[in-house]
Amino acid sequence: MKDEHSLATGEEPPSGHRHQSLKVFHSADRGFWRDVPDADWNNWRWQLQHRITSAEQLQKLLPTLTPEEFAGAKLANHKLALAITPYFFNLIDPADENCPIRLQVIPKAAETHTAPWEMNDPCGEDSHSPVPGLIHRYPDRVLFLVTDRCAAYCRYCTRSRLVSNASGYDFHPDFNRQIEYIAQHPEIRDVLLSGGDPLLLSDDKLENLLSRLRAIPHVEFLRIGSRIPTFLPQRITPELCAMLKKFHPLFMSIHSNHPRELTTEVRDALGRLADAGIPLGNQSVLLKHVNDDAEVMKAHVQKLLMCRVKPYYLYQCDLISGSAHLRASVAKGLEIMEQLRGHTTGYAVPTYVIDAPGGGGKVPINPEYVLCRNAGRVLIRNYEGRIFEYPEAPDGTPLTKPPKEIQEPELV
Ligand code: SF4
Repeated sequence: MKDEHSLATGEEPPSGHRHQSLKVFHSADRGFWRDVPDADWNNWRWQLQHRITSAEQLQKLLPTLTPEEFAGAKLANHKLALAITPYFFNLIDPADENCPIRLQVIPKAAETHTAPWEMNDPCGEDSHSPVPGLIHRYPDRVLFLVTDRCAAYCRYCTRSRLVSNASGYDFHPDFNRQIEYIAQHPEIRDVLLSGGDPLLLSDDKLENLLSRLRAIPHVEFLRIGSRIPTFLPQRITPELCAMLKKFHPLFMSIHSNHPRELTTEVRDALGRLADAGIPLGNQSVLLKHVNDDAEVMKAHVQKLLMCRVKPYYLYQCDLISGSAHLRASVAKGLEIMEQLRGHTTGYAVPTYVIDAPGGGGKVPINPEYVLCRNAGRVLIRNYEGRIFEYPEAPDGTPLTKPPKEIQEPELV
């Protein structure tokens, strides 16, 4: 979607102008659904029932669909299903093949190209699963998979092996066994509900699950990972928020990748969650042509803060099968981090991580700020490239007198 400057002049807007225009909150248009009554449009069940789920529907609604996208949509139901809520569909710019919204949810035939190092389970979750639907990879916390369904499907999904069941994984969580395992492991103090999307469960079902987890004395902390606030903000009803606030401390990690996903509808939904006392963090995935641009990323993280959401993680895209066309490089990720740290509010800076392929867990990746550590100092550089010394003895204790010998580092 071009901004007003581009539409008027046909040129790319100047940098500062582009940054500001990315941060403006817009409402999703009604588009093809302009005759639908408000009561339906704002009803999350109506949105789910009217999702776009076939290549033919997509072609009808998006005449600019490319042959590559049509072929991808045809193949999707054998790999990771195609589904887009009408609300989210309206954020797509039909005139732009590389629209950052479009790239995230419209399949391409390139999804069928698999490199030898790509995997169906790149984070090694299945090998850390003591009971179906529970991943126990870190010492004091578990991932509790609630469902294999989402409101819409992200083409780079790490869990595409099971999500949507298009690949025939046949995911059947057994809440009783999952809860029993947690109850029997007193070291588990943190439970993250994920999936698929836990907020697709009805309020009653979710309340029942949260109550049972809260009843386990050693579970200190509950989290929900959900893309629903951006795919289906209509689901964040006052009733849902009133129910969730009974289970504090309860945090929520949302998932948004581009500032255009942060509409007025999303901002209002996030405001309802924040008003219910739910601390909000965002997880983004670094994606080629979506957010592999420092200016876009900076606008995104600043806009998240305006929505009361702390940018939490920026993920290097996992080596999921068929995702090469969407993966940006680690060098690009580092360049973006370099242009965030110090250049904007610290709260706005996420932690950039690679989920170590094969199941090594999250590894933080940072630009190099410590240039050297030697006899009497730590040499550091700041975000402007200026170099500073922090005096410190080799054993890490504070210095009481100047060091005898300092080795000059090799600086580029
Ligand atoms: S919402 Fe999450 S689980 Fe669902 S498809 Fe997207 S990344 Fe995967």
